[in-house]
Amino acid sequence: MSNDQIARRGLMLVLSSPSGAGKTTLSRRLLESDGNIQLSVSATTRPMRPGEKHGTDYHFLKPEEFDAWQAQGKFLEHATVFGNRYGTPSHLVNDVLSAGRDVLFDIDWQGTQQLKEKKRDDLVSIFILPPSHDELERRLKTRAQDSDETVAGRMAKAADEISHWPEYDYVVVNSDVEKALADIQAILNAERLKRSRQTGISGFVGKLV
Ligand code: 5GP
Repeated sequence: MSNDQIARRGLMLVLSSPSGAGKTTLSRRLLESDGNIQLSVSATTRPMRPGEKHGTDYHFLKPEEFDAWQAQGKFLEHATVFGNRYGTPSHLVNDVLSAGRDVLFDIDWQGTQQLKEKKRDDLVSIFILPPSHDELERRLKTRAQDSDETVAGRMAKAADEISHWPEYDYVVVNSDVEKALADIQAILNAERLKRSRQTGISGFVGKLV
């Protein structure tokens, strides 16, 4: 018997960072390497970028569709980021958590604050930092899809975004993807072992002695 076979409640893992800190790569790698966590696919009004797929990267909505989802109470949280609207659909989350699986959220600090108010016990939040100012600038400039104006705008917003790091449970500096990934996996493993999340532990202990 190992902990993996004991029933547990899933957790909500939030990754936030300024644009360019490497969060998208880290999310993708975590989803590939860990079979017990799945991505919460957000809705957004921003245009689709090359290579993105509807329903996989985002649910790409027209502003009026986003309004309708919001009016119908379909969002667990929503916020405006860089002039576009983003929201987390609520339908998937509860089912996944009760099935003992985890959900990964790639959302900003505004969304994290809203989730904290609604779901504090289920929430584990990690803020990803770039290793230096120069490296952050370099990474933003190498993103071909973004116009110069977007890069400049994001660099200006990065300082604002970074100022929210104290609101997170954990902070990981991403100078090396493998190391940052190992840190995130270590946090995830430890949080999964929390006594309060191991709903089947008292039954297991009861049969031990
Ligand atoms: P991008 O447009 O580059 O994919 O994302 C821009 C920012 O919006 C990122 O910081 C990302 O974490 C954030 N974001 C993406 N989806 C959501 C969401 O559903 N809610 C909130 N609050 N932020 C989101």
